[in-house]
Amino acid sequence: MSDVICGIDLGTTNSCLALLRDGRPEPVIIEEGSAIVPSIVSFDDSTGQIIVGRKALNRFAAFPHHTVRSIKRLMGKETSVKLGERSYSPEQISSFILSYLATAGAVVIGSEIRRVVITVPAYFNEAQRRATIKAGELAGLEVIRIINEPTAASLLYENFEDEDSGEEGDSSCILVYDLGGGTFDVSILEVKGEIKEVLASCGDSALGGDDFDERLIAFLIRHIREKYGHDFSDDLDRALHSRLKAVAEQTKITLSDAPYARISEVAVTVVNGEPVNLDLEISRREYEEMIADLVEQTMEKVGEALREAHLESDDIGRIILVGGSTRTPLVLERLEQLFQRTVSFSVDPDLCVALGASIQHGLITGESVGHILIDVTAHSLGVKTNDSHDPETGDADYFSRIIRRNTAIPVRKAEVYYTNYDNQDLVQVEVFQGESDSCRENSLIGAFPYPLKPAPSGSSVVAEFAYDKEGLIHITLEQKGYDNRKEVTLDTRTTQVTERNDAAAEGKITNYMVSKGRKLAQQSNAPEKMRDELSTLLDEYVAALESGDDEELIDSLEERLLELMDEIEEAVSGE
Ligand code: ADP
Ligand code: MG
Repeated sequence: MSDVICGIDLGTTNSCLALLRDGRPEPVIIEEGSAIVPSIVSFDDSTGQIIVGRKALNRFAAFPHHTVRSIKRLMGKETSVKLGERSYSPEQISSFILSYLATAGAVVIGSEIRRVVITVPAYFNEAQRRATIKAGELAGLEVIRIINEPTAASLLYENFEDEDSGEEGDSSCILVYDLGGGTFDVSILEVKGEIKEVLASCGDSALGGDDFDERLIAFLIRHIREKYGHDFSDDLDRALHSRLKAVAEQTKITLSDAPYARISEVAVTVVNGEPVNLDLEISRREYEEMIADLVEQTMEKVGEALREAHLESDDIGRIILVGGSTRTPLVLERLEQLFQRTVSFSVDPDLCVALGASIQHGLITGESVGHILIDVTAHSLGVKTNDSHDPETGDADYFSRIIRRNTAIPVRKAEVYYTNYDNQDLVQVEVFQGESDSCRENSLIGAFPYPLKPAPSGSSVVAEFAYDKEGLIHITLEQKGYDNRKEVTLDTRTTQVTERNDAAAEGKITNYMVSKGRKLAQQSNAPEKMRDELSTLLDEYVAALESGDDEELIDSLEERLLELMDEIEEAVSGE
């Protein structure tokens, strides 16, 4: 049996196993459709068994004294933790996690896992690295190499096929920004051929997504105090804390993709014999205010790393995002401000360290490593807003991105926009794809009107984009609080718009070409003969689209329409 080539990201919060198959790294799906395994270990007194991963996480609230998380923080220390009556060294606890990954992984892939590459933070000292090797040995694995997490992540990107990602300078310096559950690390690597040197490595070992959760928990406690008159900030027991933490984490994750999150939980605790129910909404904006200072601290560390490496932000070629918490939009936004460029993911930030470790294993054993192809959006998708204006025409021209380029698909993301004046009756939604902040320089995919119900100026309209592998964008617009929804599907390849306003209008087709054509046909300074021809042609075209069964006819009408519209535009502008 040939040796399985695999890498393990042994994380503080989560761990992940990846495998190199036919030269391509892939994550091993171990638990409930996910490759991400919580780094949590629990001892079950009743069966005498060690439990790892999601099942151990589920036991955390009920069996706090039998369960341990974040053991990575203790690696390399002469200490022990207790699970019930038994004491274990940090290496032993870590070995349970490794052994679970290797055994459960072997079942999934159908062959034994013996030799592995394990990653550690760049700042791990010798004792911590030795402890990690020991953990591997205790798990019955041969640790063929320990590599730094940022190096592993960079290996993956080196093999990633994105020739024109538009964000690379010529520089051979890479910055890896890794924001996990409980730790933040920033590293700057210099690539010299095969060798990567760590020029700087800074961070904060007590800053991460858990702190974001804590801010939301504090917010929920304030909410409970206001509504139920009891302050839990001083008597937060473990059960209530873990319940609120689960709510907070879910809310945080929702807010990474949507501008609002609804919190709806019954009986989280009891006050004066009454159950405490949570039913509230929080906006991304409110949440971002809660965590802004934490995100700021990470930016300061980025500055520190740059100074340590004697580099300016312009000297950095590639910026790699690692860790689940980098999905927080505010993180990206602040990094973009700092580096004055667009920053995006190419690979799942949760998986890239493990995937990179499997590539390292492949390189050691002389396996050829192919290009990695991942289904991602080739362009950013978004809408036109009036945040800035075209200097020539004075028209609103700002391209507001809803889905960024290089996002893995399928994907669903939402943003909120605001009305401009009282009782605004309509928004003209114009959907573009491209990378420029100016819509003029991007390509129009489609446009359609969205009628509004009367509301004061500044009221919210949520636009949600769901983008799939077929190239369709399913757009849902919702005027918040006014029971006004509209669904539209755009095809990024044919620029055809299908509107679904309500059941009655289902199937009604409009088309960007049609709306543009109708406008041109009304242009009084265009020759009348052309306008008449255009109107007739448009009618035929709409009829053909609606019946939808004669592709050839649609194509030929489309061709003639485009020609005619060009001719009319020319005639008008040449006047
Ligand atoms: P570690 O390297 O410490 O093991 P991970 O990289 O697995 O950690 O990151 C875990 C953190 O990422 C957790 O705090 C989790 O809540 C957070 N996280 C996961 N998904 C998202 C998301 N979509 N938006 C914001 N935070 C997220
Ligand atoms: Mg990590």
